[in-house]
Amino acid sequence: MHIYPDAQAVARALRPDEPVILNRPHAARRAARFFVDKFPGKVLYAVKSNPAPDLIEVLWDAGVTHYDVASIAEVRLVRAALPEATLCFMHPIKTPSAIREAYFKHGVKTFSLDSVEELEKIVEACRNPETGEAARDLRLCVRLRVSSEYSELSLASKFGCDLLEAPALLQQVRQHCDWLGICFHVGSQAMTPFAFVQALDRTRAAIAEASVVIDMIDVGGGFPSIYPGMEPPPLEDYFQIIHQHFYALPIAYNAELWCEPGRALCAEYSSMIVKVEKRRGNELYINDGAYGALYDAAHVAWRFPVEALEDDLRDAKEDFAFYGPTCDDADYMAGPFALPGDIQAGDFIEIGMLGAYGAAMKTGFNGFGEAEVVIVEDEPMMSMFDGSRVRVDSDNVVSLR
Ligand SMILES: *Cc1c(COP(=O)(O)O)cnc(C)c1O
Repeated sequence: MHIYPDAQAVARALRPDEPVILNRPHAARRAARFFVDKFPGKVLYAVKSNPAPDLIEVLWDAGVTHYDVASIAEVRLVRAALPEATLCFMHPIKTPSAIREAYFKHGVKTFSLDSVEELEKIVEACRNPETGEAARDLRLCVRLRVSSEYSELSLASKFGCDLLEAPALLQQVRQHCDWLGICFHVGSQAMTPFAFVQALDRTRAAIAEASVVIDMIDVGGGFPSIYPGMEPPPLEDYFQIIHQHFYALPIAYNAELWCEPGRALCAEYSSMIVKVEKRRGNELYINDGAYGALYDAAHVAWRFPVEALEDDLRDAKEDFAFYGPTCDDADYMAGPFALPGDIQAGDFIEIGMLGAYGAAMKTGFNGFGEAEVVIVEDEPMMSMFDGSRVRVDSDNVVSLR
């Protein structure tokens, strides 16, 4: 893969007619080291946020040994890239054939579930096909539903058993495994560490009611990255509060603490160069959009940082909206995106922080979606890991209660 110093060098060299994805392996490596060194437990990478094999290898080299996979395709993909990685199948609804292949062929032992039906499915799928004996090495995690109220993207309504069902399910699951965990997800881009406090409080209530031994608590993803208008406290504040509340839980003395970051590990990995095809007032028609890496910009009005890559633009910055390349009216990104007022058709723009749920979302709809991929060596446009996030007084965080 070609290596360039920065986006401007790529735009100058290629004058690309199609979008170009710029990857920063050094940024992903820094994020992974940060989590591996500072999170007080085990770090699983949530593969769905960006399944690129190059990225997965960078994370492995930086010390991430466990991977949260949600489909059999993700199981196969990570297993092919990393023969020694530990894979955890954390989607609470799986097909029997996916469970069977994951367990027997790829060595997956850890599965999540949120219902008795799924428990029965897992137990049946993992029976020895010759003797009919039940598997003895399953590691099962009950997914608890928790509030998403402190996060930018909710994950609260689809998965997870509620507090009323949890105790009975935990007791039942305990009879089928020697290692029982509880997992949850506070929603993506949790803007305050308090998101994890309320989830761990709910976890405590479930454990107290169930009176079973718990071997692992998985606080899921939700760790934030940084975008225009979304500048979260430093991640150390999240780690500290999670650690504190984990230790107060009534769990096995040797219980493990896990987390499953997606966004926080890979948001800084990629940016993208797009070309302005046309200008209409302060609307720019660009060559990527709602069906490409700008899915979240269109569908949930996510704001990404932008930078014009031309030297001859002199005017003050103004607010722009983007149209993507397809013929669909929904291919529209409201932004606002701040760019020089004299930007025009033919100019190139770098859009930053697209490593998570960006590059991974590209489709081929309407014949668009091709993108060259190169490596660049400069800093991402924004960062949680460059030392610029100062720790707030942690009393402030607690006083949100
Ligand atoms: C999506 C997902 C994650 C990653 O979430 P982020 O907000 O990107 O950190 C982790 N765990 C599960 C089960 C998920 O579905």
